[in-house]
Amino acid sequence: MKRKMKRVSQDFIDDDKLHEECGVFGIFDRNCSALEETFYGIFSLQHRGQESAGITVSDGHTMETFRGMGLVTEVFHELPDKEGHIGIGHVRYSTTGSSISCNVQPLQVVDADGPVALAHNGNLVNTKDLRDAFLAKGSTFQTTMDTEVIVKMLAQAQGRNMEERINEVMDKLRGAYSVVVCTNEALYAFRDPFGYRPLVLGQTETGFVVCSETVALDSIDATFIRDIKPGEIIRIDDTGVHSMMCRRTVPRLGMCVFEYIYFARPDSIMNGQDIYKARLQMGKELWRETNFNADVVMSVPDSGNVAALGYAQASGIPYVEGLLKNKYMGRTFIKPGQKKREQAVRMKLNPILSNVKGKKIILIDDSIVRGTTSGIIIGLLRRAGAKEIHLCISSPPVKYPCFFGIDTAARKQLIAVRHSEKEICKLIGADSLHYLSQDGLARAISSLPKENMCFACFDGDYPESVPLAGNESVSEG
Ligand code: SF4
Repeated sequence: MKRKMKRVSQDFIDDDKLHEECGVFGIFDRNCSALEETFYGIFSLQHRGQESAGITVSDGHTMETFRGMGLVTEVFHELPDKEGHIGIGHVRYSTTGSSISCNVQPLQVVDADGPVALAHNGNLVNTKDLRDAFLAKGSTFQTTMDTEVIVKMLAQAQGRNMEERINEVMDKLRGAYSVVVCTNEALYAFRDPFGYRPLVLGQTETGFVVCSETVALDSIDATFIRDIKPGEIIRIDDTGVHSMMCRRTVPRLGMCVFEYIYFARPDSIMNGQDIYKARLQMGKELWRETNFNADVVMSVPDSGNVAALGYAQASGIPYVEGLLKNKYMGRTFIKPGQKKREQAVRMKLNPILSNVKGKKIILIDDSIVRGTTSGIIIGLLRRAGAKEIHLCISSPPVKYPCFFGIDTAARKQLIAVRHSEKEICKLIGADSLHYLSQDGLARAISSLPKENMCFACFDGDYPESVPLAGNESVSEG
């Protein structure tokens, strides 16, 4: 009997990681092709989602949305012929169950004022209640996305203009959302009051841009203006940028610390923090906490690269490449099971013998989630002749699921829930294992105080109440 093949992205092999769910981009510029600029923008945000991509463009009179499953270059191997000066775009990673074409964003509908399209990064924690309220009134849903709930709420909200309607909707939304909205008149952006997910404002020569990360500004030669504030609502039209704060206030902020550890591109700047420098500092903090002596420092590429460099700089131990990553993995079909998982890791990583054989190694990675690949990687290094392997992780143990737009495993699948550090070390076959402390991590991110960040996947202290704490996360955006 044939075993079922599972279609996966290269991230399947990285299933020992958390996964970002989405990236968003928006532009208002009379002197550009919004479609083309949005394509470049979402291409630079590809790391935030690889399962689907979409672009909406308006020329002020008509609006069209183009979207599909796959990488940005797969969905847009040819750019559609649509002129317009307002555009929004989206890239999405999803949990397997919701990876269906109807869930691809942006979501375009027609409301009383005409066409409107919306794209969302994050995850609402009260989707079920909001959805049930619509269903009770006889509404139906075309998708399983919380994004559709926001669209429906916007259509029904009272208010003299879109900003007032957004404000009313924000009163009722709970959880994480960085949203871009396209109408025939303007581009809008709004961010939840905790500021879980990033959103920045930039400027072209003749227009304005909003996007998840500054790298998307760089991709179209736009200039960074500022971060969009938690709770801020922005309208961009021919008269410029208009800002207001939402009515709802919250007792603290909750910027996701994993953006700094892993999700964001290292060449992005977030809340004034150079992500590369933060990761470098995480490596230096790891050295402060471990003081290991070894022959070489190496990383699990690419996720541990910058922290490994930081460890090497602080310790004076030489940094070498110990594992070479095959750049051409792309998408592949992998059978489930440990043997096939090992094969997949070997397809992706291969030891460089001269840097590994006979060496006492400090191996740096950014996180261990399920613990499925760390042991395989350590096995590869052992077979290549490593004398000792000391694994250092540039984040604390992940013990709680995320409810704010990150795909984590169910709590029972998290290795740090089921095992002590000593047991994990033994299970993965390392000589020692050290996780960066929460304080060390907070010190590495100098631009934000710890109390303004979410550390909940390490300590369970969620910035707001979550529906199923300790159980499975249901992430859609
Ligand atoms: S729970 Fe973890 S992944 Fe989710 S927002 Fe908080 S820090 Fe980020």
